[in-house]
Amino acid sequence: MSKAIVMGSGFGGLAAAVRLLNKGYDVTVLEARDQIGGRAGVFKQDGYTFDAGPTVITAPYLLNELFELLQEDPKDFFELLPIDPFYRIIFNDKSKFDYVGDEDRLIENIKDLSPKDVDGYRRLARHAKDIFDVGYTELADAPFDTVASMLRVAPDMIKLQNYRSVYSLVSKYIKDERLRMAFSFEPLLVGGNPTKITSIYLLIHWLERKWGVHFVKGGTTALVDAFRRLLVKKGANVLTNASVKKIEVENGSVKRVITEDERIFDCDLLVSNADPVRVYRDMIDSSHRSKHSDRSLNRKKHSMSLFVAYFGAKKLYPELAHHTILLGPRYNGLLKDIFDRKVLADDFSLYLHAPTRTDVTMAPEGHECFYVLSPVPNKLGKIDWATETERYKEKIYRWMDQNHLSGLMDNLTVDFAVNPDYFDFELQSEHGAAFGIEPSFTQSAYFRFHNRSEDVNGLYFVGANTHPGAGIPGVLNSAKVLDKVVPQASGISRVKTKRRRSEGLRAPEAQL
Ligand SMILES: Cc1cc2nc3c(=O)[nH]c(=O)nc-3n(C[C@H](O)[C@H](O)[C@H](O)COP(=O)(O)OP(=O)(O)OC[C@H]3O[C@@H](n4cnc5c(N)ncnc54)[C@H](O)[C@@H]3O)c2cc1C
Repeated sequence: MSKAIVMGSGFGGLAAAVRLLNKGYDVTVLEARDQIGGRAGVFKQDGYTFDAGPTVITAPYLLNELFELLQEDPKDFFELLPIDPFYRIIFNDKSKFDYVGDEDRLIENIKDLSPKDVDGYRRLARHAKDIFDVGYTELADAPFDTVASMLRVAPDMIKLQNYRSVYSLVSKYIKDERLRMAFSFEPLLVGGNPTKITSIYLLIHWLERKWGVHFVKGGTTALVDAFRRLLVKKGANVLTNASVKKIEVENGSVKRVITEDERIFDCDLLVSNADPVRVYRDMIDSSHRSKHSDRSLNRKKHSMSLFVAYFGAKKLYPELAHHTILLGPRYNGLLKDIFDRKVLADDFSLYLHAPTRTDVTMAPEGHECFYVLSPVPNKLGKIDWATETERYKEKIYRWMDQNHLSGLMDNLTVDFAVNPDYFDFELQSEHGAAFGIEPSFTQSAYFRFHNRSEDVNGLYFVGANTHPGAGIPGVLNSAKVLDKVVPQASGISRVKTKRRRSEGLRAPEAQL
């Protein structure tokens, strides 16, 4: 039976493992950490369940189809709860905007804030849908491994004004600065600067409107556990504390991986969910890499990082929404500090997660469970987090106590924080980037890491660093692309003969 290894168990890796099982492979998942899920890990403390990372679940069909692929009913594994409003945005002047899915209510909320922008929003929404119809429906799970695939989409991208940034396109339709922020902050959730990232990412707005925003009962960690149960039930081997340090290549094909503790795993196929910069540069001998030289890898631009403080309170805040965006006094200036100047600004804009508003089991009775997230520069900014962490965390708590969570300082129970070092050392991401390589135009689609390695036969990639990019829908779609480029485990010789003739597929890969 053909042996496949999946290195890393983020959602991209978990989805890849499901798809490889479906293709008939004998699948082993090797995860470096002591828990699976990657950025969707969990911290449990004193009765609180803190999801470490993703909390906004969109496009649920992408999850359901993975369970259905293996003939299971997703409802037997996890439950999704709809969230309303999707987000509450609180501006620096304390005015509020509830971003909801229902169009009539959304229009009412826009009218309350800025009546003159109602028509503009309708036109913006139509534009977002047009972008979605091409950028998501046609391209999200399409392989971008040839220049031709990129050139094919260029005319549509120009027609849809994807040369403009998200912020610039939103500003074309919306005049109120607060609403401009409300409809352009979403790229931050995939690591992009709204004032720079191509407006193709406006598709996120339509994706949320179309399929809603959901929370997993029990937290995102319950979804990760659902995947673990599915994989184990279907015969995959899921190992934690198995950090790969070396990938051995023979005759141009991947042969085996070696872990930090010197365990050896032979394989016919390797799917990496780890950071491709580190995989190519640090795990594969340079003699096997003509395309991904150290020089080209070191030139990649990385997304920003995050500072996240997790805390519990022995006080309830019933007026809070599940997801709140707390915008500070500056938008463009703050984005410049984070992305360009790479300095830790005095002010901040925050995302506050309050899962207990939807699921009381996330905290002990009468308590709230929170995390607050602040986008910060990646580690190319020379911030000394050893000294800044406590000061920055304290500053955020005090600001929230004074402005949004009164009495917080007197009611804190547990609290701790992660900074860019967590992404660098714990999640093994270059420069502590929270979302992998930056989703700029020159690092998107064909220009992102390809799902099939150009250097090593039998080596594949999934996850945030590959097309279409970060975010749970993004990485689940990357595994759909993988599905299209990985051969079936059985009947490989048939695939080999056909594909070698028509596509010139390299021989060693076809011997799986
Ligand atoms: C704080 C935060 C909040 C977010 N919120 C949202 C949200 O609400 N909604 C949303 O859709 N997205 C959100 N995102 C983005 C989303 O979480 C990620 O883009 C996505 O989960 C990344 O998945 P991935 O498949 O790329 O793998 P990752 O989650 O990056 O996992 C990669 C795995 O590979 C492992 N690994 C690395 N090196 C090795 C090695 N050498 N050997 C073995 N294993 C290795 C790592 O330990 C890790 O487990 C958020 C991200 C963060 C950080």
